[in-house]
Amino acid sequence: MQEKFGQIDAIDAAKIIARHRPGWDPPGIVAALAKVRYDLDIAQALTAALRAAADPAATTPAALAWDKYRAAPVAPTVLTIERCPQHGSRLTSLGHCPACRSEILAGQRPRQAMCKQYDPEAERAEA
Ligand SMILES: [Zn+2]
Repeated sequence: MQEKFGQIDAIDAAKIIARHRPGWDPPGIVAALAKVRYDLDIAQALTAALRAAADPAATTPAALAWDKYRAAPVAPTVLTIERCPQHGSRLTSLGHCPACRSEILAGQRPRQAMCKQYDPEAERAEA
């Protein structure tokens, strides 16, 4: 993700920053954010801006551009979504596939075949 600050983001961020720094007026904060050429994604840029706002040594919104408030880039989080190998359904928080659960309740799938490849024809051939 490399989303940058846009004007709307800057206005929204300025409201939050102004709540933390009552002495900084939102238009001044928006102007300062517009001058900042963040090579950070928006989460990192907001974090840096809030760090600047929290520092009493930063007396004006111009501090939003100071490098010292930037944190080292963080590797993006990889979100893995577990899916049922048979249905492709996203598993519930209990690790259940809704389609498998429906089949189990309907008596079309054994309980132990939850979230597993299951072929009723192959099961019958083995029995
Ligand atoms: Zn399933």
